[in-house]
Amino acid sequence: MPAQYTALGLYLDGEWIGSRDRDCVDVTNPATSAVIGQLPLATPDDVDRALASAQQGFEAWRTVSAWDRGAVLKRTAELLRERADAIARVITLEEGKTLPEARGEILRTADTFEWSGEEARHRCGRLLPSGAPGVRQLVVEEPVGPVAAFGPWNFPVLSPARKLAELLAAGCSCVIKPAEETPGSFLEVVRACLDAGVTERAVNVVFGDPPVVAEHLIASPIIRKVSFTGSIPVGREIAALAGRHLKPVSLELGGHAPVIVFDDVDVVPVAIAAARAKFRNAGQICVVPSRFFVHRKVHDRFVEAFTKTAFALRVGDGLDEATEMGPLANARRVVAMAALVEDAATAVGATVQTSDRDVPQGGSFWRPTVVLTQSDDVCVMREEPFGPIAPITPFSDLREVLTRANALGYGLAGYAFARSFETRRAVADRLAVGMLAINSFEISTPESPFGGVKDSGHGTEGGIEGLAAYLVPKYVNER
Ligand code: NAD
Repeated sequence: MPAQYTALGLYLDGEWIGSRDRDCVDVTNPATSAVIGQLPLATPDDVDRALASAQQGFEAWRTVSAWDRGAVLKRTAELLRERADAIARVITLEEGKTLPEARGEILRTADTFEWSGEEARHRCGRLLPSGAPGVRQLVVEEPVGPVAAFGPWNFPVLSPARKLAELLAAGCSCVIKPAEETPGSFLEVVRACLDAGVTERAVNVVFGDPPVVAEHLIASPIIRKVSFTGSIPVGREIAALAGRHLKPVSLELGGHAPVIVFDDVDVVPVAIAAARAKFRNAGQICVVPSRFFVHRKVHDRFVEAFTKTAFALRVGDGLDEATEMGPLANARRVVAMAALVEDAATAVGATVQTSDRDVPQGGSFWRPTVVLTQSDDVCVMREEPFGPIAPITPFSDLREVLTRANALGYGLAGYAFARSFETRRAVADRLAVGMLAINSFEISTPESPFGGVKDSGHGTEGGIEGLAAYLVPKYVNER
């Protein structure tokens, strides 16, 4: 095993558990396809132990004062910043993104812990005016209880850590199942939490056969809340399970973010920024700019600057300093990209253009690709590519483009570029998304709510709303 990867295991009942007597799966580096680690999978007994531990951890952690919980989370943030370079290598090895992108993910995770630590101290209940003499009416916010959380592989640290930071800030405990494809980097976050002083049984981490583990966890009466980030089909399964067991659930699912570029902007800088944003993490981001609607008057200039920027990107191993775009995170994404390109290549009115720069052999690489299309009836306009394929299409007016942008089931992020106040206002009012960036590609900060509408999920992470998802109001009438 390469020395720079990390020790893999389960963490439950305050104990690290290695591969002895357990089935294991390979963890591979998507840049080389080399096996870099063996991940032990939880037995049913392990999952039961993790659940019992989460119950114990909850009883202990909920009694820690909000000030002390906040201090521990802020200490976790400091440790993550100190360890950012080492953890970034682990992310790049298992997920493929470039080292600067991986470092950025850790630093954003640290910011999230810091925000959650501060927010722990800001939450407060209410004292209601009483309707009768001698009556005191309180609303107190209580932690919901042990949480079952499921993280994705594309942001293997930030996504599960956002859940962890918020639920810990609220006084909850958890059993977390990060993605089996990218397990090591999140374990580093767990180590930072424990080193900072999180009560050991408040955090439990298991890996396994995802549907089996999900069913086991969600069915347990110990679990009081479910949080999932991942694909829409799996989100439906999780929501069905949560419904069957009457558990509240937060779902952050896929997106296919429209980017609407109007004709009153300086189009070349917008196109360059759009290409840079689109190919971050090889396009595998749920809020990535994804469907490009460009006003006819500026369409050709946009396409020229976008493709020039995209096709100049150096694609390679994320560990290589010269690399600007890493591989796809797994071979499944390569198969998905091939299907989308094949569909576009045979669709009427669509053309496919691809970078001709060399890419390394042996890994899950895909060259930056642009699909120019006159119609939305091509797969890559309807289905989230979750990869480095960018469909670009012209539009003629505001009403038409809003109808087209809102036509899909997705409703996570959206972007618009316009100078006209009326245009910006119309987009802000009528684009059906949970997050909207206007004249910017900045869509997510620790203090802002993160979540979608329609098939992109429900419930929110981030911001004051994120912590609220792990709290329940309790009304107390006292005479
Ligand atoms: P997929 O639907 O096959 O999901 C596989 C992933 O989901 C694995 O990581 C697995 O561990 C997990 N999973 C599967 N069944 C599960 C279950 N019952 N309970 C819990 N976890 C389960 O898709 P994929 O090939 O991994 O990814 C493709 C799609 O996933 C993309 O198109 C994108 O829409 C979506 N995705 C979204 C996000 C996001 O941030 N919302 C992140 C990653 C992937």
